[in-house]
Amino acid sequence: MGAQVIDGKGFAAKLRERVGAQAEKFAQAAGRKAGLAVVLVGEDPASQVYVRSKHKATVAANMESFEHRLPADTGEAELLALVERLNADPAVDGILVQLPLPDHLDEQAVIAAISPDKDVDGFHVTNAGRLAVGQSGFVPCTPLGCMMLLTDRLGDLSGLEAVVIGRSNIVGKPMAQLLLDANATVTIAHSRTKDLPGVVKRADIVVAAVGRAEMVKAEWLKPQATVIDVGINRLPPEPGAEKGRLVGDVDYGAAQGVAGAITPVPGGVGPMTIAVLLRNTLVAAYRNEGLDLPE
Ligand code: NDP
Repeated sequence: MGAQVIDGKGFAAKLRERVGAQAEKFAQAAGRKAGLAVVLVGEDPASQVYVRSKHKATVAANMESFEHRLPADTGEAELLALVERLNADPAVDGILVQLPLPDHLDEQAVIAAISPDKDVDGFHVTNAGRLAVGQSGFVPCTPLGCMMLLTDRLGDLSGLEAVVIGRSNIVGKPMAQLLLDANATVTIAHSRTKDLPGVVKRADIVVAAVGRAEMVKAEWLKPQATVIDVGINRLPPEPGAEKGRLVGDVDYGAAQGVAGAITPVPGGVGPMTIAVLLRNTLVAAYRNEGLDLPE
């Protein structure tokens, strides 16, 4: 029997609907809509697509979307001044600076300038610290979305063996932290890990966040493991095609024969990221107004 396909797209659609209904209640209670400001510097095509879809999703969820598009040669002082203005703007509950920034801009300095209470991406060192010590703050959207899919599928994660492949600040590390908080036994693997197949073999839960097409093989997996594939990789185009296929970090077709459940790419983790961003923005809005978030 093949693995159950974890329908991130469907889950995300329901989450967006719930957030939209709560955002409407917020607007009634606060006399204004919750607001998300997105800053895009330069013309990176993938970033433009992300920013456009964030804008559409924000508006569809009954929230205000403030887009700030700046030319690629924008100086750091100018960008930091914009972030300061957004920090001070009471109509803005969440601020997201689309990464990557052009090379001449210091990403860490820009993230550090965002007020931690408006840092709905959860990248600010204060929010990373809050997550590490178990205080409530903003958690990065992609790992939080993965966690939602995992608890929906598995319920209690206590005592399960989890292996996270990848240790970036935006996916791998916060993912491991969330799994640890949920009482899983967590291993973080990375490019220097010895015997990655052997490490993955013991996992009840595998989260792959590497960025290497179909790297995780079916025979590495423990039978019935739950597999969350964060990777988004474009294969070279087939002859005659304009674009190559999108695939994850896991060899999806073969893994389906071994795993208990698996997220597809596309349609798995990807749609969760924006839905969680909207959820984080709504939480920020309720906090900023001193209101309690409804169930
Ligand atoms: P990074 O490049 O920041 O991190 C990749 C990690 O993978 C590093 O920790 C690296 O190890 C590790 N790694 C690289 N090669 C190997 C290897 N051969 N074996 C084991 N580990 C390896 O990537 P991100 O965390 O930002 O993103 C990971 C993937 O997730 C990408 O495909 C990205 O596109 C995707 N992504 C998807 C999102 C979504 O919404 N679905 C959101 C964010 C990212 P080391 O630290 O040792 O170098």
